[in-house]
Amino acid sequence: MSLAFDNSYARLPQRFYARLPPTPVSAPRLIRVNAPLARQLGIDPDWLASEEGVAVIAGNRVPDGADPIAQAYAGHQFGGFTPQLGDGRAILLGEVVDRDGVRRDIQLKGSGPTPFSRRGDGRAALGPVLREFIVSEAMAALGIPTTRALAAVTTGDWVFREVALPGAVLARVASSHIRVGTFQFFAARGDADGVKALADHAIARHYPDAAAAAAPYREFLARVVAAQADLIARWMLVGFIHGVMNTDNTAISGETIDYGPCAFMDAFHPMQVYSSIDHGGRYAFGNQPRIALWNLTRLAECLLPLLADDQDAAVAIAQEILAGFAPRFDAAWRAGLGRKIGLQEVRDGDEALIEDLLQRMADNQADFTLTFRGLADAVAGDVAVRDRFADPAAFDAWAPRWRERLAAEPMAPSARRDAMCAENPAFIPRNHQVERVIAAAVEREDYAPFEALMAVLARPFDDQPGAADYAKPPQAEEVVAQTFCGT
Ligand code: AMP
Ligand code: MG
Repeated sequence: MSLAFDNSYARLPQRFYARLPPTPVSAPRLIRVNAPLARQLGIDPDWLASEEGVAVIAGNRVPDGADPIAQAYAGHQFGGFTPQLGDGRAILLGEVVDRDGVRRDIQLKGSGPTPFSRRGDGRAALGPVLREFIVSEAMAALGIPTTRALAAVTTGDWVFREVALPGAVLARVASSHIRVGTFQFFAARGDADGVKALADHAIARHYPDAAAAAAPYREFLARVVAAQADLIARWMLVGFIHGVMNTDNTAISGETIDYGPCAFMDAFHPMQVYSSIDHGGRYAFGNQPRIALWNLTRLAECLLPLLADDQDAAVAIAQEILAGFAPRFDAAWRAGLGRKIGLQEVRDGDEALIEDLLQRMADNQADFTLTFRGLADAVAGDVAVRDRFADPAAFDAWAPRWRERLAAEPMAPSARRDAMCAENPAFIPRNHQVERVIAAAVEREDYAPFEALMAVLARPFDDQPGAADYAKPPQAEEVVAQTFCGT
């Protein structure tokens, strides 16, 4: 088996990365291969699961054609700038062009120290690897742009955090790993040629038609702004909280990247936070659009010299492009919420109707996912949704106005329910379920719960009567109040 690598990033100037192979591990064992994704990349899943394939995932064998590098990047973390972060525990093996002609990175995460490791060990623990596997694949099944999980192995080595934990490596696939922080790396060094070379690379790779625009770099910035606005709206429409929206965790491609202390909300609250390291709520659910714009503003600053020769003119152009974020986000969020409550188009007054629902949900600790899924059932006459509200009367007071509005867009109830079910998942990676399957794997080497959860999450919009437990919100004693990044 040979992979058809074509490593365009490794052909960029040497200051873009450090060239080094992954560090071998003691005793790799396969956790899981993502067979459909492997096939999409032109990789035989059976080979990937073989001893040779597992050795590649573990970093014990560098496949022919790979050109392993650790990518350089910088980043604002919780608002504070670090001029050099970089792949401290990841190696980009190389790029392959997939069956649809899309160029995709294959990266090993947890693959050993690099010149960017700082004080870290370059490794990943099993828990966070499983968490990224579960949540990134769940996001893909929900139709949300994301990096993917190709395969994962345990290493046979311990990693030391507060306690000793089993080590693991995740093979991650992304349309690229170029981040806002990658641009910041060069801009912070006054390396205008670096910024330009990176922008040209990113345009060719992600927004090729922008190259033909009258002002390609302006068009590029506008595309990234639009992609992020759409992405954040998609997250929020399924109750997703990224948890660490640092500029180094913001991908230029518009894919969700770097799943750390991320979480799907159970009970809706606009300012919900799960991350144990997010003390000020900077990355709370409802702050995500504002933070995305803040991150994009950092990108715009890096691109200023490419936007116009005159600094003031460049700033004015950047501001104009960044001003496009809010309307784009608002339109996607509103239209998405409209579809979630069963509307085909958003009209005057709908915003107030939706805001009122959200307020009642927040006041009544209503489960985000099951309330919206329950609305789909309510269209067909089911009444269970009212019991999602601590005080069901709060729903009863809202429902007549909703039904009246639905009546203005006549549709057969079964067809409406189908349309709403395609917008409102029944199954999300519930925090308590994720913790449960991770505990089984870490404490007992039992991967059956992980496999079972993956199977359910692969079909999030389908009614799966046999999987009812996976749809349920946590019992009081199961509630996960905090999530950890586990680095
Ligand atoms: P993250 O929190 O995964 O987005 O990582 C932020 C930065 O810390 C990146 O530069 C990572 O490469 C680095 N990092 C995180 N964990 C480790 C680790 N165990 N060893 C070395 N570097 C790490
Ligand atoms: Mg990161």
